[in-house]
Amino acid sequence: MVRSVLGIDVGGTQMKWGLVQEGRVRSLHKEKTPPHPEALKSRIQQLVHELGPVDAIGIGVPGMVDEEGVIHDPPNLPEFHGFPLKQALEQITGLPVRIENDANLIALGEWKFGAAQGARHAVVMTLGTGIGTGFISDGRLVRGAHGRGAEGGHMILDPDGPPCYCGNRGCLESFLGTVHFIPRARSALAQGPEVPSDLDQLDAAELYKLAQRGHPVAQELWREYGHWLGLGIVNFVHLFGPEVVVLGGGVAGAFDAFAPAMFQTLEQHVIGYPDRHLKVVPAALGMEAGIYGAWALLEDT
Ligand SMILES: [Zn+2]
Repeated sequence: MVRSVLGIDVGGTQMKWGLVQEGRVRSLHKEKTPPHPEALKSRIQQLVHELGPVDAIGIGVPGMVDEEGVIHDPPNLPEFHGFPLKQALEQITGLPVRIENDANLIALGEWKFGAAQGARHAVVMTLGTGIGTGFISDGRLVRGAHGRGAEGGHMILDPDGPPCYCGNRGCLESFLGTVHFIPRARSALAQGPEVPSDLDQLDAAELYKLAQRGHPVAQELWREYGHWLGLGIVNFVHLFGPEVVVLGGGVAGAFDAFAPAMFQTLEQHVIGYPDRHLKVVPAALGMEAGIYGAWALLEDT
């Protein structure tokens, strides 16, 4: 029986890891993601050695993960494409290893321990540099064939919309991912009244503060964000009929700023909206979501 799990959430730039014992996160650490798979492998071997008795490893990575635990097309980590991480870690540590797409890992965490607890149908979105999605349908995480499902961030909302790194135009992510949204916000703010002095430092948190202080352009930008996010959720609701939609990731901290436009879009476009009693709520676990997800992944086995 698994009692102690090393949970690792590998992001494009930062990696979070922690020890979970008996379903509780005992520690949480953040560090730079090693740039090469071999360096990641050595770092994890070192962690297992330092942490003492660990029964298993649960790990989330960007990109798609197939049944053999091989990573495919990870955005921002091209060196990891085709790397058999599960096999490499099992060999080097002698421990059972489970690997999952990072957004799915967070969805598992929020579903089993956080804001979607108890739901049989849930959507968990991660709003950050990119847009991650995890879908719980009929009490199961949707993975798709060869682990290539559930990429809701690349749902096309407007074929003539802004270009997305995936090669398509007008994906949900091309409207909401901060890599697209923040540069657009900068140019909009540069043209408007009350141009902020440190525009090149602007990030989602700063844009949120500007809106809270009543900056009209910042408020309009968050209204647009809420509108596109709402449209994305409308489609997910029509596909999966969730009881709850959970919004995590750094940009979810601006919930108050984008929520009014988001709910307005839901009211306008979701079929049978009042009867669904749909909840759309911020995530509950913050940075620990992926680490809880790692535990859930091992418990699930
Ligand atoms: Zn895309």
